Parts: sequence; structure tokens; C-alpha cells
Amino acid sequence: MGAKPKIAVIGAGAFGGWTALSLLRRGAAVTLLDAWGPGNARASSGGETRIIRGCYGPDQPYTAMTARAFQLWAEQEKYGNQQYLYRTGVLWMVTSDDDSFERGSLPLLREHGIAYEELSAQEMARRWPQIHLEGVGWGIFEPASGYLMARIACQAVVEAFIAGGGEYRQAAVSSHQLEQEIHQGLPLADGQRIHADQYVFACGPWLGQLFPTAVGDFLRPTKQDIFFFGTPAGDDRFSTARLPVWAEHHQRFMYGIPANDGRGFKIADDTRGPRFDPTHGERRVSPETLHTAREYLARRFPALKDAPLLETRVCQYENSPDHHLLIDRHPAHPNVWLAGGGSGHGFKLGPTVGEIMARAMLLGNPPDARFRLARTARE
Ligand SMILES: Cc1cc2nc3c(=O)[nH]c(=O)nc-3n(C[C@H](O)[C@H](O)[C@H](O)COP(=O)(O)OP(=O)(O)OC[C@H]3O[C@@H](n4cnc5c(N)ncnc54)[C@H](O)[C@@H]3O)c2cc1C
Repeated sequence: MGAKPKIAVIGAGAFGGWTALSLLRRGAAVTLLDAWGPGNARASSGGETRIIRGCYGPDQPYTAMTARAFQLWAEQEKYGNQQYLYRTGVLWMVTSDDDSFERGSLPLLREHGIAYEELSAQEMARRWPQIHLEGVGWGIFEPASGYLMARIACQAVVEAFIAGGGEYRQAAVSSHQLEQEIHQGLPLADGQRIHADQYVFACGPWLGQLFPTAVGDFLRPTKQDIFFFGTPAGDDRFSTARLPVWAEHHQRFMYGIPANDGRGFKIADDTRGPRFDPTHGERRVSPETLHTAREYLARRFPALKDAPLLETRVCQYENSPDHHLLIDRHPAHPNVWLAGGGSGHGFKLGPTVGEIMARAMLLGNPPDARFRLARTARE
């Protein structure tokens, strides 16, 4: 038997944590590093909750990846005896004449075995009278989809990694000359160097700063504001007990997660915000995004019209130009891999990304061509 390949994974978010665990389980010797820890408040994976859903429109790899992710998340829950996947259902409200996103999702849901029902507006009104369905023509309900506890799941993945014999270190990689000097080993901010056969950088919104030549503006972090509104006392109509995760994919892509875990009713606008610095950015929501959230709430969930704002969060998306993931080798360093570009939808895919990375690095299976860095040349 040959020596185990030695791999360093930088970043313990959804992509890096799962990549480290998948590599370890397939026999590599893995060191996982993170500057602030798994699911930290600056990381894109650092929120309380993230949606897991199969509807993704036509002609895309993500419904299949989500179907596989469901299996891997469930296996991990069983392994760690801890729940972080909540199958509340996901409801898509279709309000546009152009329903090609929703219609185009259906064959892929069928093909990959993600359960769904097509619902008339009347049936939706019967099931969820707390939603004001004005303008909604029809809907898709994914009964077995729902949400993941994001920060907790990232921490659980790293705990499983450590329990399986992986080495985890809280350490920051220095970005100074990294792209030029990585062939001499991985430079840490404290002056030490780590040497491995291969490196995976799963640094989310930081990837462009770490690799200004290869990645640079290919991944743009944008500020995203999230709101949690208070539900009426003693009333569970706006909690996960009585309402599924919901989304409306129209002029704006609005989505939300009903109250859970003692928190309020979460609502967010998927529209890309201004550019954001994930290290130094101040995490304060803007009055404009609050206004949009309140307006939407008053229209779609009228009983929450005057609901008090309980909490806010600012996170950042790490957007690729076409919102496809980035999974590829660094063009100048064949032993350096890049995994990122979640573009506002990557969390659920973490386990599948880990599997794709492990197969690429240990077996030479190439990732989907849509995830390549070189696709920039075609734009
Ligand atoms: C508001 C919001 C809502 C979202 N909603 C959903 C959703 O509903 N469903 C969904 O599937 N996805 C959703 N996403 C997207 C998803 O959360 C992200 O795509 C995913 O979490 C990205 O994970 P990552 O591992 O690539 O990055 P990150 O989670 O950012 O992890 C990168 C890690 O790298 C570390 N790091 C960075 N630089 C260094 C360094 N120099 N040295 C060492 N460590 C370093 C960081 O500390 C961090 O922990 C949402 C994102 C946001 C912001």
C-alpha cells in the first residue's frame, strides 16, 4: 500500500468541511484550517438556517446534486445522532406568466426522485390560509424538502472529521504573495508553513482576494440583508409547525423560513446587494432592504404587517458571473484546487461538493465542465 495522500483544506464552511470529511473517509491524511472556525459569523455558511430544495429551473446540475445531498445529510445526521435537516416542505408560489423556472424544474424533480405536488391557488389557500395569495396562479410543493441548521451543521461536520482522525487547526493562511509562493508550501499568518501534496481552497467570499490573478473578480461578494420578524403571541400559523419554507420567484426572488428554534419569521430578498468585504465589512442592514421586506410581508402575510423586527443579519453571497459553482484546479498550480462560487445557493450542496472534490482529487474524475474557471473565457 502506498502512503496516504497528504491534503490541506483551507476553509471549514459548507464546502471545505464536507471536502475534508469526504477526503478523510476515502483514505487521505487531511488537515483542515479555518481562520475563525466552522460556520463563523463572517462566513457565508455562518447563518442559522439555509433552505434545501430541488426546484432549480431547467437544464442545470443542481437538482441531481441536491438529491444526492439529501442522502448525505441524512446519513451524517444518523452517524452523529444529531438533527440539522428539517423537512418542513418548501412551497413555490408562481406569480408570473413566465413560469419557465417552475415548469422547467418538474422533469428534473421527477428524474431525481425529489417529491413534489403541483397545487392550484385554491388548494394552496385551503392548506395555508395565512398566506394572501393574490396574483398567485399555481404552486409547487416539495413536501420532503425544508431547511438545514447551517452553523450547527458546519460544526457537526468538523466534529465528525476530527472524530474520524482528521486534524483541525484554527489558523489563517496569509494572502501575501500566496498565488506566487504556494509551491513552497502553505504560508500561515503566524509565519509557519504547512506542506501537503495537494491543497483545497474552499474560502467562500475570500477566494478572489487570496487568488487575485486566477479568481479575482470572478467571485464577487455582495451584501445580503436578512430579517427575522416577531410572530403574534400564542399563534403558530407563522412557525414551521403550520407553514412550510416558501419562495416566490418573480420580479424579485423573495424567500423565507417560518419561525423555528425560538427565532422570528425569516424573510430575505435574493436580489444582489452592493459589494461587500467579508473581513472588515460592518454588518448593518439598510433601511431600503428593510422597507422591501416589510412591504412584501404586509402583502403576502397580512397578519404580520406590523410585526416587530426581532433580529437582523448581514451575510454575503460569493457570486460567480453565471451563478454556477467554481470547482477546478488553479491554472498555474496543478496541486491547488479551488471550491466555491455558491452564489446564494451553495449550502445545501456541501456534501455533494465534498464528494465531487474527493473523486476529482483521489480518482481523477473531472468535475462538471460548468464549474470550470476557464468558462470565463466564453463570456
Ligand atoms: C444570506 C444568505 C442566504 C443563503 N441562503 C441559502 C439557502 O437558503 N440555501 C443554500 O443552499 N445556500 C444559501 N446560501 C449560500 C450558502 O450559504 C453559501 O454558498 C455557502 O455557505 C458557501 O460555503 P463556503 O464553504 O463556500 O464558504 P464559507 O462558508 O464562507 O466558508 C469559507 C471559510 O473560509 C475561511 N477562510 C477564509 N479565508 C481564510 C484564510 N485566509 N485562512 C483560513 N481560513 C479562511 C472562513 O473563515 C470561512 O469559514 C445563502 C447565503 C447567504 C449569505
